[in-house]
Amino acid sequence: MHSLTKTALSFNGIGRRCVALNRFSETRIICRGLTCTAEHENELYDVIISGGGMVGTAMACSLGLDPNLEGKKILLLEAGNKKVMDKVPDAYSTRVSSISPGSATLLSVGAWDHIMNMRCKPYQKMQVWDACSDALITFDKENLQDEMAYIVENNIIVAALTKQLENLSDQVRVQYKSKVVKYTWPKSHQVADAIPWVQVTLANGQTLQTKLLIGADGPNSMVRREAGIPTVKWNYDQSAVVAVLHLSEPTENNVAWQRFLPTGPIAMLPLSDTESSLVWSTSHRHAEELLQLDEESFVDSINTAFWSNENHSELVETAGSLFRTALSVLMPSAGSARQLPPSVAGIGPKSRIMFPLGMGHASEYIRHRVALIGDAAHRVHPLAGQGANLGFGDVACLTQLLNTKHRAMQHLLEYETERQRHNLPMMAAIDLMKRLYSTNAAPMVVLRTFGLQATNTLPAMKAQIMAFASK
Ligand SMILES: Cc1cc2nc3c(=O)[nH]c(=O)nc-3n(C[C@H](O)[C@H](O)[C@H](O)COP(=O)(O)OP(=O)(O)OC[C@H]3O[C@@H](n4cnc5c(N)ncnc54)[C@H](O)[C@@H]3O)c2cc1C
Repeated sequence: MHSLTKTALSFNGIGRRCVALNRFSETRIICRGLTCTAEHENELYDVIISGGGMVGTAMACSLGLDPNLEGKKILLLEAGNKKVMDKVPDAYSTRVSSISPGSATLLSVGAWDHIMNMRCKPYQKMQVWDACSDALITFDKENLQDEMAYIVENNIIVAALTKQLENLSDQVRVQYKSKVVKYTWPKSHQVADAIPWVQVTLANGQTLQTKLLIGADGPNSMVRREAGIPTVKWNYDQSAVVAVLHLSEPTENNVAWQRFLPTGPIAMLPLSDTESSLVWSTSHRHAEELLQLDEESFVDSINTAFWSNENHSELVETAGSLFRTALSVLMPSAGSARQLPPSVAGIGPKSRIMFPLGMGHASEYIRHRVALIGDAAHRVHPLAGQGANLGFGDVACLTQLLNTKHRAMQHLLEYETERQRHNLPMMAAIDLMKRLYSTNAAPMVVLRTFGLQATNTLPAMKAQIMAFASK
């Protein structure tokens, strides 16, 4: 019997998934022998990461930098080109992410310094408010120790991680323009001479083998699909329009603004004293109309969306103001005044793009020699700016479990448990917010107005919300 099969069968009592995953360190010794006999093009790796977006590249850096994983053979495969940035372009990119302090700590494995040297904008305050009432919630430094978060262009994050990977070329190999077209999973343990590793076939015909495949290939993950991992997913009735905004006048610009319109949330995120980034989630049809508008009308629509009270109703205003009065009697010093965001004067050249939005969650993050991270495991609505942050959390957790001395793969089940415990409540809260604010029906508006106003008067609760979101 193959020695791996013996090891696998010894885990039978734990259940099929543990059996299939086996041991990380132990199999390494076995596979060394196998590497010698394998063809060069059928090279065996300890870890192959499929997908070099923000999350997959961060995973490669994180594993490559871990001293406990020294000597492991690690490969990153990315279908696209290498994304380098010799000079930061003057114009801001439309694709940005709000990066939490927790993610910044993960990226501090070398890449964060590169990001700081390139371009990023910290912000200290956030105001979220309802277009159908006066209800609002603010988060600011009173509730926080340091920066609330940072707005960073996605291409800067990837370029910084890519630069860091160049310093890790002894630890991590990277292949760009390498699209995976097929994964072949290890056959049943009962089949003698079956190859126990995952085989990866590239579009150029090259085949590779790996003991652990990490799927970081985005929301339409081929790894997830071919591994047969059940996924709950749906498309939202919204698309996000993103653009670079020029402000009417320079401001300190250290506030992230988000207003919930009945058609979806509109957010203005600071980039510099004079520029911000727009993420406007709205119906597909409205999103298409926004893309067709001339620049002046587009800018007018943005200012109206942030400033207009056309969705206010007398009933809701009366109920909201009574509730606010009652709260101010109970907690005189709590709450905060509503501020208006800066007005927009123009947009960056060719900066309008739209993305259909959806939600997806893989019911398992771990399977037979496979782990899913980032959008391959979970996709969320951008209203909370959490998608990439959840992915960076996956990277930190998986690295920590892979580098422990006892790398029995039950530890990878810990990855699934730990991350689902964090990701699922966040995903449920984001989906609930999306639904709660997608209506202007008076009873629902009154209910959410009371909820938001009450939460805004509770500093301890706000601090908890921020602590959870900044992990
Ligand atoms: C409008 C909008 C705003 C957002 N704002 C925020 C925000 O403020 N904060 C935040 O945290 N998140 C935000 N997000 C979410 C964030 O962008 C995603 O969560 C993040 O990009 C996911 O990264 P990823 O690396 O997991 O996947 P992806 O970015 O999809 O990367 C997958 C990579 O895998 C590669 N790949 C795919 N298939 C193959 C294959 N077969 N072979 C080889 N390579 C392959 C692709 O080329 C790609 O490079 C936002 C999303 C949207 C749409």
